[in-house]
Amino acid sequence: MLLPLVAEQIVRMVSRDPKDSRLDGRTVWIPRMTYVGARLTAAVFRSVGIDASVVPPSDEQTLALGGLYSSGQECYPEKVTLGDFLRIVHAEDFQPERTAFFMPTAEGPCRFGQYAPYLRQVLDNLGHGDVPVISPTSKNSYDGIAEHGSDVMRTMWRGLVAADALRKMLLRTRPYELSVGDADEAFERSIVIVEEVLSCPGLDLRQRLNKLVDALSESRELFRAVPARYTKDRPLVGVVGEIFCRLNTFSNSDAVRRIEAHGGEVWLSDVGEWVWYTNWSQKRRVARNEGRFSLAMLGAIIKNSVQRREEHRLLSVFEEDFVGYEEPHDLYHQVLKLGWPYLPADGALGEMALSVGKACYLYGKGADGIIDISPFACMNGIVSEAVYPAVSADYNGMPIRNFYFDASSSNMERDLDIFMELVVSYQKRKDQHRRFPACFEA
Ligand code: SF4
Repeated sequence: MLLPLVAEQIVRMVSRDPKDSRLDGRTVWIPRMTYVGARLTAAVFRSVGIDASVVPPSDEQTLALGGLYSSGQECYPEKVTLGDFLRIVHAEDFQPERTAFFMPTAEGPCRFGQYAPYLRQVLDNLGHGDVPVISPTSKNSYDGIAEHGSDVMRTMWRGLVAADALRKMLLRTRPYELSVGDADEAFERSIVIVEEVLSCPGLDLRQRLNKLVDALSESRELFRAVPARYTKDRPLVGVVGEIFCRLNTFSNSDAVRRIEAHGGEVWLSDVGEWVWYTNWSQKRRVARNEGRFSLAMLGAIIKNSVQRREEHRLLSVFEEDFVGYEEPHDLYHQVLKLGWPYLPADGALGEMALSVGKACYLYGKGADGIIDISPFACMNGIVSEAVYPAVSADYNGMPIRNFYFDASSSNMERDLDIFMELVVSYQKRKDQHRRFPACFEA
């Protein structure tokens, strides 16, 4: 749940007391829930004069340090994010006075709310109480950084939409490339192009949006230029589940590439989905606490519609490329309501309701199977796993399978062969057929 909260965090930062200079001269380290999302988040920080970098790719030391400084009862994403930060602390060239960590937080039963306080505690115990942890619960003055808070908030949202779109183009192109590595190269080059726009200081909102549309158009052409042979017989596997584990390639042992290596194409649930979900939840909360006709409700509606408008503008660049790959434009009716008979979203909060609803949505888009990725012992996967047999039975026997990950093991390698056989068999008899972009017709 890291990146969906980034925009909210930034907004708290942007109204900082200008006299507060505790971030001056520091690099803010961004956790990499998604590689592209973290890169673009860091770019937005830089646009308001904060030096920011993405933590280096996770490795064995990540797990060693994450394990050393945790009790074993924390969830796997906590171990990975903590370990990544501690690698920076343990590096030979670590300079506490030049370091800050960015760790969003949230309220509620999910253990994610403990990540930032726990990081703070670990740093204090290591004698680094002076290293800031930027989080919404901080009572210090990291609640500001520049004068244009809402601008940064909107830039963060645009970055998130762009990150989701670039990842989607990558996953839509890579299985069909003729030369291994071409799609990944287009992806890397696209990130650089978009980063340049997001990190550029001094642009007003309109200028940045126009430049971002241009940058995405340029990126789209890079993907279109990848030599590829698109075929309609490759099975489409929807990947849902816990947001960090499904998106963080280290945590899920590069599950998407494994599915591709087994002959599949992946439709991976994106980060934006979580933002729409939090918007929906916020409106329900506001209606309950302050009434349907309140200023708070008006604010929530305006925020939602501005985000929709900007998303529409940015994604219009990919309209032809995403034929058949359309994300739901109405989360409640197209996702949550479909999942309601199995997990009512007014009671089953969070990703489990999204995962089940999205599985149903993807059935309608012609998916040939669903994989739910979760950290070992996370309740999201456990609850959704309990209802998937009923979902599958109601949806023509579409194969749905949970895969769990932790630091030492996963059941994916063992069971993916069998799952993909089920997928291919379902593909032959399914009644929901896919639509394809024009490149598949050539
Ligand atoms: S959803 Fe599960 S794995 Fe993710 S932060 Fe919450 S408790 Fe941990």
